[in-house]
Amino acid sequence: MFNKSKFKETMPVVPAQIRITNFNEVELGLSDKSALLEADRCLNCKNSPCVKGCPVGVEIPKFIEFIKKGDANSAYKTILKDNIFPAICGRVCPQEKQCEAHCIRGKSGDSVAIGSLERYVADKILNSDDNKEIQNKKTDDISGNKKHKIAIVGSGPSGLTCASELTELGLEATVFEALHTPGGVLSYGIPEFRLPRKVLKKELEVLKNKGVKIVTNAVVGKSFLIDSLFNMGYSAVYIASGAGLPRFMNIPGEGLSGVYSANEFLTRVNLMHAEKEKYDTPIIFPKKLVVVGGGNVAMDAARVAKRLGAENVTVLYRRTESEISHAKEEGIEFLFLSNPTKFLGQNGKLTNIECIKMSMGEKDFSGRKSVSPIPGSEFLVSADTAVIAVGNSPNTIIKNSENNLDFDSYGRIIVDSQTLRTSKKFVYAGGDAVTGAATVILAMGAGKKAAHQIFNDLKSIESEGER
Ligand SMILES: Cc1cc2nc3c(=O)[nH]c(=O)nc-3n(C[C@H](O)[C@H](O)[C@H](O)COP(=O)(O)OP(=O)(O)OC[C@H]3O[C@@H](n4cnc5c(N)ncnc54)[C@H](O)[C@@H]3O)c2cc1C
Repeated sequence: MFNKSKFKETMPVVPAQIRITNFNEVELGLSDKSALLEADRCLNCKNSPCVKGCPVGVEIPKFIEFIKKGDANSAYKTILKDNIFPAICGRVCPQEKQCEAHCIRGKSGDSVAIGSLERYVADKILNSDDNKEIQNKKTDDISGNKKHKIAIVGSGPSGLTCASELTELGLEATVFEALHTPGGVLSYGIPEFRLPRKVLKKELEVLKNKGVKIVTNAVVGKSFLIDSLFNMGYSAVYIASGAGLPRFMNIPGEGLSGVYSANEFLTRVNLMHAEKEKYDTPIIFPKKLVVVGGGNVAMDAARVAKRLGAENVTVLYRRTESEISHAKEEGIEFLFLSNPTKFLGQNGKLTNIECIKMSMGEKDFSGRKSVSPIPGSEFLVSADTAVIAVGNSPNTIIKNSENNLDFDSYGRIIVDSQTLRTSKKFVYAGGDAVTGAATVILAMGAGKKAAHQIFNDLKSIESEGER
């Protein structure tokens, strides 16, 4: 049977009025019936253009074929070969710009909802007993009985994917994480209502059961240096320390009480449970909150503020529309082409934000339209809290502790784009630490690539040694 419908099956969502009262997941996943109907929209194209759009190369038509046969177990195993986090990616990946953008069905109608199907399969298996059987591991050594240990810095999607892949290749992987809990942005950044922590926990279990070790509270560059990792017997190091350093605007008043970076604001809720009464986490419960910025991070901060009880949440963005449909439904207001110039306060506390209107100009060399302030268009927005979400850079801990690594002027680690080798021998890097803030799946793709490179490099020095 082939489903000719031009429209994809959509997931039910919790109505906006209910969802803003709690942190429960908003999108509820496809039912069995919808998943089957959606799978039947896939043409199983011979040249699989969708796979080319997936940075980790999931065999998309193959797993969808298994859904059509009602075999979720085989569908899950197919995805897992290339993607250790299907339940996470099914929720947070921008599929419309990746696999789904290449789907032939998208030429005359909606693309197949690949992300929703990926999530459907993962949820079905992770919530069933079949989960145990699937967590089999492969621990063959790469040569004889010699087993290499690889150290990974950072437990975000990039580091964890690298660790998973190395384990598949028969190497031992240990992940060192600065925070007390693993996951990187998946844990401290993306809010529960988009990515429930029980989903993250389950996928981390799959990883740990493969033999990946995670050491938390270990800040590489402070607790020990990269060279100490080699002294501890590690053969190679993969740096996946992300881009967790918030950027500020460098305008007057940023030091006022009530002005947060998005990272701080989200971490206080995600990791320190500021939203729960029994936790004594210091946070301002905003009445009138303004978020500055227009990306994923800004939308997450705005939607979290709404759930903390803010009466009025406004997003101030110097450009035009971004992905905002859920936020709009939740009553968040938007002021486009507007930029803050000054935070104003009384007794050290934020009271107002002075803003200026912006106008769009010509496209610059990057193809993006430039924006410039309109002189004399200043206006005031009343606010007791502001969250700045204008981007992140890599933190400087490793840069400050390591002389032999090259960094660019933005603090990103410089690597060879083909091999992900850094300027230091047997040290590799990838994910946001190299690209700057990007996406989960791109970070995972880099982790996978680095694992194979490390494997091949170690194999070639071994064969040189045998000659
Ligand atoms: C609020 C928010 C929402 C987002 N939403 C989406 C989304 O919906 N979809 C999407 O695709 N992407 C999203 N992103 C971007 C995405 O999360 C990142 O691109 C991705 O997590 C990068 O992965 P990574 O492994 O490179 O780094 P990270 O996830 O940042 O992980 C790096 C880890 O390294 C640790 N670390 C740092 N320094 C050290 C050190 N010296 N020693 C030991 N450990 C260290 C950090 O504590 C962290 O745990 C979002 C980002 C944010 C902030």
